[in-house]
Parts: sequence; C-alpha cells; structure tokens
Amino acid sequence: MRMTDQRRVIARIIEAATDHPDVEELYRRASEVDPRISLSTVYRTVNLFEEAGLVTKHDFKDGRARFEPIPEEHHDHLIDIRSGKVIEFRNEEIEAIQELIAKRLGYRLIDHRLELYAVPLDSKEPER
Ligand SMILES: [Zn+2]
Repeated sequence: MRMTDQRRVIARIIEAATDHPDVEELYRRASEVDPRISLSTVYRTVNLFEEAGLVTKHDFKDGRARFEPIPEEHHDHLIDIRSGKVIEFRNEEIEAIQELIAKRLGYRLIDHRLELYAVPLDSKEPER
C-alpha cells in the first residue's frame, strides 16, 4: 500500500488512540493535524488499513465501526452501553476455557472475540 502523507497522519492517529475511535472521531482528530483531509479519505483509509491487516475493526453494536491498532497482546472488551466507553481486559481463565471448548469440539483455537455489554453497577434500571 502506498503511504501518502494523509494516510500517514491517519495511521499515526489510530496508533496513538486508546479509546477505539470511530471514523467520525478519527476524522475530527485528523483534521486538527491536516485540515485538507476529508471524511471520505478517512473512510477509505481505515478500510484499506483493515484489509491490509494494520488495524482491527470492531462492531460494538452501536451502529458505528470502531478501530484500534493490532494489539501486541490479545485482549477482550467490555462495552458500557450507557456511555459507549470501551474497557479492555484479559482473563486467563476465559482464555483457557475457550481453548478447552474448541478442543472438546475437535478444534485448535486460533483466535476469538469476546465482547461484554454492560451497564455500571450503580445504574438504577437496566437498559431496555
Ligand atoms: Zn481493544
């Protein structure tokens, strides 16, 4: 993939992000660095990056794709459905049990995604 200046800017912003931003948010951040970057450029670029295996795309069920750099170590996500906040976690028991489930089904696990959708414990009523 050809790394244009604009793509480089977008790559740097994804690299620096820790909050799993969506395209609109990436566009907002990219425009601060280079006001000539358009929303459609950001769209095209993140999709290219995803196809090239440079970023991970997430669907956290809120209707917007969210992006993060490929993590060095695998992690899972808890999504606060009230605020949209995404919390990363890793739990060795969950990792082990998933491998065990795959093994019992006759498979060797190579990857997985786990998303927990939650409301804060102090919330008055459950969502929906
Ligand atoms: Zn993450």
